[in-house]
Amino acid sequence: MDMAERLRLAKEFGGLTDEEAMALSGLGGVDPSLPDRMVENAVGVFPVPLGIAANFVINGRDYLIPMATEEPSVIAAASNAAKMALDGGGFSTSSSEPLMIGQVQIREVADPNGARHVILGRKKEITDLANSQDPMLVKVGGGVRDIDVRIVDTKGGIDVVVHLIVDVRDAMGANAVNTMAEAIAPLLEEMVCGKVHLRILSNLARFRLARARAVWAKDAVGGADVVDGVIAAYQFADADPYRCATHNKGIMNGIDALMLATGNDTRAIEAGAHAFAASSGGYKPLTAFEKNERGDLVGTIEVPMAVGLIGGATKSHPSARAAIKLLGVKSACELGEVAAAVGLAQNFAALRALATVGIQQGHMTLHARNIVASVGCPPELMDEAVETIVSERRIRMDRAAEVVDSLKKKAKG
Ligand code: NAD
Repeated sequence: MDMAERLRLAKEFGGLTDEEAMALSGLGGVDPSLPDRMVENAVGVFPVPLGIAANFVINGRDYLIPMATEEPSVIAAASNAAKMALDGGGFSTSSSEPLMIGQVQIREVADPNGARHVILGRKKEITDLANSQDPMLVKVGGGVRDIDVRIVDTKGGIDVVVHLIVDVRDAMGANAVNTMAEAIAPLLEEMVCGKVHLRILSNLARFRLARARAVWAKDAVGGADVVDGVIAAYQFADADPYRCATHNKGIMNGIDALMLATGNDTRAIEAGAHAFAASSGGYKPLTAFEKNERGDLVGTIEVPMAVGLIGGATKSHPSARAAIKLLGVKSACELGEVAAAVGLAQNFAALRALATVGIQQGHMTLHARNIVASVGCPPELMDEAVETIVSERRIRMDRAAEVVDSLKKKAKG
């Protein structure tokens, strides 16, 4: 299909209006006031390609996945991995409640253990004060669920750190939690006789987890050797942080692209994922791969998912709104689960490629197109130039420039 046909299909699938389809594509241009409303010193917008990953069946439902990314191969790899999972029934997912953590750091407390007990004994007072900051959140079923107190030994002394655990429902929750953390600070100071310092959300959203699982039938992925190859690749990441960083980066290729397309905070998701991966003390993969009793590959992922459908850019950006409508997700938890499935698919695709033909084969053609475009190739010579450098396996700028030059001369006659 060409771009227009794909957009028409997505429009139909997601029940988008003409306006929403145009917003999804971004090709109708943007309201000039949008960037100025979103950031400071705006001068315009920076276009990133938006594609749609296909073949995702999650909990028995079909999804089209909007992905905004500058990296070639990501969308094709996700779609291909999802296709190979179809035989096994696609992805099944689950998630925890949408609980975020707000931290209040209290310094210079003479009796940290005593202070901890005082705070825990007055949970209700603290909870009521925090909840009074956000009646809207409480009305939709959210609010403070618990309070924890940790004693943290820092280079500057012992701190008492209060954790406000807040159900943020369909919001990412940073503003909601930060407001609450700031509001309870004077009360805490008065309770324990110390000095409040920082009051801010933690991006290690360890109580807000999304999980996905898929079974890739061995025949669908290329046989028992491929299954073993993927498992060995996962075991390498589990044993070695140098490999693990790239393993987890591959997962985030998919998750970030979906997060960006839906107007979510990609940095919050990244920070949460990597902090969670390191929370056992070593840096570990966010996914796991095993073989079941039939010899099929079982992939799982568990990852913090501080995503929202309310607030931030998710509501104010028309392309993000259209992407969320296309997904058809009804809650932030559902969006988090879809993201987990995409991350798992992305990781499986990368491991399968690495364990077989290597990653470059899939990357080559699109990468070559970028290289050829970057040396100023006119559109009518693009295909021939790409074909030449791919078949020569010399996908380099210097060679692309030579090929484009000679094709131009040939075209002039
Ligand atoms: P927000 O404050 O814009 O929206 C959340 C509010 O919407 C809630 O407090 C509630 O009052 C209301 N609401 C209405 N219906 C709701 C529903 N169904 N579920 C939940 N809330 C509902 O947004 P936010 O999610 O609190 O904050 C997100 C923004 O904060 C993002 O733009 C993020 O980039 C930014 N941020 C992030 C960090 C960080 O990650 N460390 C720090 C500061 C700000």
